[in-house]
Amino acid sequence: MNEYDVIVVGAGAAGLIAAGRAAELGGKVLLLEKMERAGRKLLITGKGRCNITNDAPQSEFYDHIYPNARFLKHAFGTFFSHDIISLLEKNGLETVVERGGRVFPATNSSADVVNALLKWVNSSHVEIRYGQKVDRLILADGEAKGIDVDFGGRHSDILAKKIIICTGGCSYPATGSTGDGHRMAAKAGHSVETPRPALVPVETEGKLAQRLQGLSLKNVRAVVWVNGKKLKDEFGEMLFTHFGLTGPIILSLSRFVVDELMKKNFVEISVDLKPALDEVKLDKRLLRDLDENGKRKLENIFRLWLPSSMIPVFLEELGIDGQKEGHQVNGKERRKIMLMMKNLRFRVSGYRSFKEAIITAGGIPTSEIDSKTMESKVVKNLYFAGEVIDLDADTGGFNLQIAFSTAWLAAQSCMRQDDVTS
Ligand SMILES: Cc1cc2nc3c(=O)[nH]c(=O)nc-3n(C[C@H](O)[C@H](O)[C@H](O)COP(=O)(O)OP(=O)(O)OC[C@H]3O[C@@H](n4cnc5c(N)ncnc54)[C@H](O)[C@@H]3O)c2cc1C
Repeated sequence: MNEYDVIVVGAGAAGLIAAGRAAELGGKVLLLEKMERAGRKLLITGKGRCNITNDAPQSEFYDHIYPNARFLKHAFGTFFSHDIISLLEKNGLETVVERGGRVFPATNSSADVVNALLKWVNSSHVEIRYGQKVDRLILADGEAKGIDVDFGGRHSDILAKKIIICTGGCSYPATGSTGDGHRMAAKAGHSVETPRPALVPVETEGKLAQRLQGLSLKNVRAVVWVNGKKLKDEFGEMLFTHFGLTGPIILSLSRFVVDELMKKNFVEISVDLKPALDEVKLDKRLLRDLDENGKRKLENIFRLWLPSSMIPVFLEELGIDGQKEGHQVNGKERRKIMLMMKNLRFRVSGYRSFKEAIITAGGIPTSEIDSKTMESKVVKNLYFAGEVIDLDADTGGFNLQIAFSTAWLAAQSCMRQDDVTS
């Protein structure tokens, strides 16, 4: 006999919403979490401030989501950014909108987001059990019937009419997201798109990035080159580290870098330090500054063009003596300076691991999930929500909104089926 209407596996962003909504609709719901508390990853989101969602219109969301954004049409249609904002407000948490439409809790604390969600979940009478790792799905006749749970080495089977898998991806595994959902789904007959780190820093060859480590650049353009051809570019902020490159625009480009490296392609990233000026205009500017400062040393003239910590590294890379005076710099050298400012190039040798990846690309293919219900097309009564699905997005609150929307839709679909309530 079924003990529960719905079992939700994982009490992260998706699991809390799925459990709360199914219970709110009258279901007897069990939420199982393997860690000792809910929302471990939510707590570290947005550098501890939690970028909950984005106030951009739905049409703009699709430009930030990969690889199949349109899969989310029904989920977003059912529960969108204004819905999560109003749910949090009803549970005592005000929100504010910041630059780029990013929505944060007014208190600037991700813990308040987790607490507001837990308040709602508890008021909906969800039974939550912590320290319970779901090991396996119980299946019969192509249907999910329940789960096998491991608590401290002891195992127990729990039956339910519907199961929602909300186990997340593989990134930041210390928060509890270790790919369990992928393994369980694979055993049940699903295919799994290879999970790989996304929104992840990249590693570069040579010592150039290392020598610039700690330097942050604003208003630059980074371009990804694959086998010498331009693939994608981003404008904004980036940072050099001891292993390579990171910062917002590099993280955004990383999902493409990772995919190309996995295909064994030759990948480079170039940085345009002066994106507002084309080559001709930049050359004119350099010529003017060199003329006006003919008696100054080149290393001092460079201060007009670059952050000071960059200058010695830049001059060494160019092989030009910084002690030269402005009037001694010839046309060939000026062109070398100009080209390096427009095209500071790094060969990409790799990327950091899941431990440093904000999100996981890959997971359960959207082709194996019904976009109108979030139910598996392979196993009846099995649903997926959140990062376990093969969907990932840019930074800006889009990833959490995917988790909230898919979870809400999964819960509604579970409760809408006649057999749950009968
Ligand atoms: C550092 C960092 C910052 C981020 N900042 C933002 C941000 O500001 N805005 C944004 O939109 N996104 C952000 N993200 C991404 C966002 O956190 C995730 O997309 C989101 O948490 C996914 O929600 P989820 O519920 O699918 O998975 P998770 O939040 O990972 O939750 C999965 C839960 O399932 C549990 N679980 C796993 N396996 C089992 C099992 N076998 N049995 C029982 N329980 C299990 C886990 O312990 C975990 O609690 C950030 C991610 C990181 C790592």
